[in-house]
Amino acid sequence: MATNGYEDGLKMIEELTTNAEQIQDEVLREILSRNAGTQYLRGFLHGQTQKQLFKKNVPIVTYEDLKPYIDRIANGETSDILLAEPVTAFYMSSGTSGGQPKLMPVTAEYHKKGALFETLIQYPAMRHFGDINQAGKRMELMFARPEIETPSGLKAASVSTSIYNGSKFRTILPKLYTSPIETIFCPDPNQGLYCQLLFGLIQRDEVVKVGSLFASTVLRGIKFLENHWQELCYDIKTGRLSDWITDSGCRNAASLIMKPNPEQADLIENICNCKSWEGIIRKLWPKARYIGCVCTGVMGQYTTELEFYCRGLPLVSALYASSEAVCGINLEPLCKPSDVSYTILPNMAYFEFLPVKNERDESIEMKSNDEDTELVDLVNVKVGQCYELVVSTCAGLYRYKVGDVLMVSGFYNNAPQVQFVERKNVILNVDQEKTSETDLSKAVTEAKALLDPLGFILTEYTSYVDTSSAPGHYVLFWEIKGKEGKHCEELDPKIMVECCSRMEESLHYTYKIYRKRNIIAALEIRVVKQGSFEALMDYCVSKGTSLSQYKKPNCIKSEEALKILDSRVTGKYFSPKSPL
Ligand code: AMP
Repeated sequence: MATNGYEDGLKMIEELTTNAEQIQDEVLREILSRNAGTQYLRGFLHGQTQKQLFKKNVPIVTYEDLKPYIDRIANGETSDILLAEPVTAFYMSSGTSGGQPKLMPVTAEYHKKGALFETLIQYPAMRHFGDINQAGKRMELMFARPEIETPSGLKAASVSTSIYNGSKFRTILPKLYTSPIETIFCPDPNQGLYCQLLFGLIQRDEVVKVGSLFASTVLRGIKFLENHWQELCYDIKTGRLSDWITDSGCRNAASLIMKPNPEQADLIENICNCKSWEGIIRKLWPKARYIGCVCTGVMGQYTTELEFYCRGLPLVSALYASSEAVCGINLEPLCKPSDVSYTILPNMAYFEFLPVKNERDESIEMKSNDEDTELVDLVNVKVGQCYELVVSTCAGLYRYKVGDVLMVSGFYNNAPQVQFVERKNVILNVDQEKTSETDLSKAVTEAKALLDPLGFILTEYTSYVDTSSAPGHYVLFWEIKGKEGKHCEELDPKIMVECCSRMEESLHYTYKIYRKRNIIAALEIRVVKQGSFEALMDYCVSKGTSLSQYKKPNCIKSEEALKILDSRVTGKYFSPKSPL
C-alpha cells in the first residue's frame, strides 16, 4: 500500500474489518509458530501451535506474571526465553508495577505494526478535514519523557518519546509541525511548553490542526497561555525570547524563527485580552480544522472545559492504543467525545475479551476465577456487553490483561467497535498515571504513621481527583480522631503538611515524575469534622445502598457525595514540594 494513498488507506481498513476472523486466526498462527518454542510458551504448549491448545493451556496473565521474564531480558538474558524475535527496546507504560514503570518488549515486527497504525489513523480524519499534511502545520503539544537504559543496554522510553526519537518523525517535523524538536525534548516541561506555544502563535496562520496526545495536555496548554499570553506577545513583538528560557536547545531554535512582529503581537494581544476565552483556540488559530486529542476514558473529565475553549471546532479522539498493543481507530471523527467508539483492527494483535459484569447487566454469570471464564474471540463479542481486553502480541505478551474495560457498541463490517469504559482497579488518574487502590492505601499508611505518636488516629479516608484547576491534583479527605481526650484542633498544621509530603513520597514512580514535571499539582489533604463519613454513608444508603453491604468508597465519584464531605472540611493542607 502506498502509505500516502487516501483511497488505499480506506480500502485497507475495509479489508481488515471485513476479514476480521481470518486475520485474527493468521495473527495467532504467526505468533504461535514463531514463539511456541520459547521457554515461556513451551511450558504450556510443549512446542505445539494449535489454537485449541493455546486456548486451553495458556493462562490469562497480568504484568506481574510476565515481569520475571521481561526483567531477565532487561538484565541481559536473550529474548528467546519469552519471544523468538530479538527485543530492540522497551516501551515504558504509564502503569507501574511495585512502584516501577512497566516495561513492554518492542521488536522490529511490533514497531512495524505501530507505524502502520499511525498511518491508518489519519484516513478517517482526512475524509472530513482533507489532507492536513498538504494544507499546513499542526500545533501539537508534545513532551518527550526521560529515557532509561536497562542493564542489557536496551533503551526504555514511553511510546510517544520513542516516536519523537524516530528518524521518520524528525524528518517530517519541520514541515508538518510548528514545534521544533528541541522544545519537545526540553528537560524543563514549562520552558518546552512556553516555546511550543510561542512557535505555534508565531506560525498561527499556517496552523490547520491543534492538539496533543491527550485532552489534559491541550487544556494545560490553554491554562498556561492564560497566565503567559502577555509575555508571549511581548516576545513576539520584540523578536526576543524571555530570559527565563535558559534551555540552549530552545534558545537556538528560537533564534532561527523569531523576528520582531508587532502586528502579529497586537492581533494576538487583542484576542487574548477579551473578557471571555470562549472559543479562544479558534480565534488564535483561525485555520484550524479540528482539535486532535484522546477525549475518552479518564480524559472525559476534561472535555467540557475544552469544548468551551474550542467552541465549534470538532474534538477528535482518533485512536485507542497502549504500550502493550495498538488496538483501535475512530472511524467517525465528528462523533461527540462521549459517544466515541474505536474499531478494533484485527491485524494489530490477537484480541480476546474477558466478560465483565456491568452493573446494568445481571445476566452474565461471572465465575470467581478468570481461568474458568471463557474468553471470547474478537468477532464473537456481544453488543452491549463489557469486557476486559486481553491481548497476545508478536512482542512476547500472551493472553495478557491490559487492564482496560471496554463496552462493545457495534460492529464495523466484522470488527467490533468499542467504547472505553474504565481502567480496572485504578481509582485516581489525572493524566494516565493510574494510581490503584493499593498504591493509595500504601501511601496513606505511610503518612498516617506520622499521626500515631502524636496521639491522633486516622479513622476514615477517601479521595478524588480535583481538575477544577490545571494541572489536576489528588485530594484526600481525612477524618481524624484524638486519643485520650485530645482534640483535632490541637493537631499542628505542620504535621498535616508533612503528611501530604509523605503521601507523595510514598506514591509510585510515575506519580512522582508527573509531579516533578508539573503534570500533576500538589497533593491536598482536607481534614473533615467528626461524623463526616457517617454522613457520607447516610447519603449512600439514601441512594439505595444496602446498609449491611455499604463499603466506604475509596474514591468519590458523585458530586453530591463530594459536597457532603466538602461542606465539613475544617482544614486544607498541601504538599509543599515535589517528591523528586
Ligand atoms: P500507556 O500504556 O502508558 O501507553 O497507556 C495506555 C492506556 O491509556 C490504555 O491501556 C488505556 O487505559 C489508556 N488509553 C489509551 N487510549 C485511550 C483512549 N482512546 N481512551 C481512553 N483511554 C485510553
